[in-house]
Amino acid sequence: MEQRKIRFDETFQPGRIDFAGEDLEQSSPLHVAGSAEALAHSDGEVRVRGKYTVEMGAQCDRCLGRVRYPLDGGFELYYRPVSAIAREEEVEIGEDEVEIGFYEGGGLEMEDILREQVLLALPMQRTCSEDCKGICPACGRNRNETECDCRIESGGDRWGALRRLEI
Ligand SMILES: [Zn+2]
Ligand SMILES: [Zn+2]
Repeated sequence: MEQRKIRFDETFQPGRIDFAGEDLEQSSPLHVAGSAEALAHSDGEVRVRGKYTVEMGAQCDRCLGRVRYPLDGGFELYYRPVSAIAREEEVEIGEDEVEIGFYEGGGLEMEDILREQVLLALPMQRTCSEDCKGICPACGRNRNETECDCRIESGGDRWGALRRLEI
């Protein structure tokens, strides 16, 4: 079986990869370099390896300020052709095989791979700093920039009460 290896070295300008719906913004070109190769003695399995750099921007969950995420990551992924599924249908896919994706005749979309890698690299909680004080629920001021004297009287706000105790 002939082994094919394709090298890639590409730059994706903001807008080419669709991050809409993720509250994310690509603030620098994304550069990726690596290779994709069909593995010998496999059923059309493809291995894609690469390294990428990009800077992403998001909104802080607490204060709505900007958060910057300079990413410098790598990946190694395995894909099988969709046609292989039919034959393996009765074979239970083990937990350790979850990493294997599938591709259809047209091949792999680098945009999809990169989109997923970037999302995986970002934290679930996006805050500008670990101790971001957020926005005051009473006066709406950014408490990182301005101290305010609002007393949050709602009984449910136990964290607010704790914060006052610490002062
Ligand atoms: Zn913040
Ligand atoms: Zn306030």
